[in-house]
Amino acid sequence: MILRFWGVRGSIAVPGIDTARYGGNTSCVEVTAPGLPSLVFDCGTGARQLGRALLAREERELHVLFSHFHMDHVFGFPFFGPIFAPSFSTTVSAPAFHPDGAKDRISRYLNGVFHPLRLPEVPGHIVYDAIRPARPFTRGPWEIVGFALNHPGGACAYRATLGSRSVVYVTDTAPLSRPGEGLAGGGLPNGREAQFIDFLRGADVVVFDTMFTLPEYLEKMTWGHSYPEYAVAVCDAADVRSLYLFHHAPDATDADLDLLAEHWAGHARVRVRVAREGEEVNLEG
Ligand SMILES: [Zn+2]
Ligand SMILES: [Zn+2]
Repeated sequence: MILRFWGVRGSIAVPGIDTARYGGNTSCVEVTAPGLPSLVFDCGTGARQLGRALLAREERELHVLFSHFHMDHVFGFPFFGPIFAPSFSTTVSAPAFHPDGAKDRISRYLNGVFHPLRLPEVPGHIVYDAIRPARPFTRGPWEIVGFALNHPGGACAYRATLGSRSVVYVTDTAPLSRPGEGLAGGGLPNGREAQFIDFLRGADVVVFDTMFTLPEYLEKMTWGHSYPEYAVAVCDAADVRSLYLFHHAPDATDADLDLLAEHWAGHARVRVRVAREGEEVNLEG
């Protein structure tokens, strides 16, 4: 199983010399294995380059899972090549009560106003599905389950399993405990955190929203984003193998992210890395 980062940034794309090494595109992560349809978590601006890569491969089926519909997670969808290729078959899944709910939300964006195309004019074959967090489902050979996160308007994490390997995509979310309480306070997990730890338990790779530093989080607690110390505490408690800090703040420069990587390089339990656009993680290694 291979995980590829096509976009690692939160909120807005930030191309430029200060972000050239870690990348300026917004959230888009692919999980795949040879000969299998890819799973795509979110279609931020990184989805454009992913679409080009997919068109160059033989596989003609893929599965997109949206965490939620904030702009930084959908902006790449109208520029995602497979939805314009009639030979491609794409399932689009999102937290909703009805398949039309997922389709309706995307069509508010692809409606002739915010983008010249309207969703019904898109030539690729797209099937929509509504998922409910905590209710397991499958996409081809992938076994998937969601978890409801702590974010304004809601967001859904996904755990995807293939054979003995599991990857978890967790964005966007604030901590599940308040400062000084639960895991955020360095203590025992509260009830919701205990469920979250079960959801993450033993995963090979967890990709986690750590847009803020702890002081930034304390100033912006209602914005729905987390910070590295919290992600590490949760992943340590869940015996996760590798944690990738993700959804970097638009203002975080390459130098800032180098410092973050250095700070966590020697952490004793979960292996902590800073997600970088273009990076490939081989889970068989
Ligand atoms: Zn976001
Ligand atoms: Zn969001």
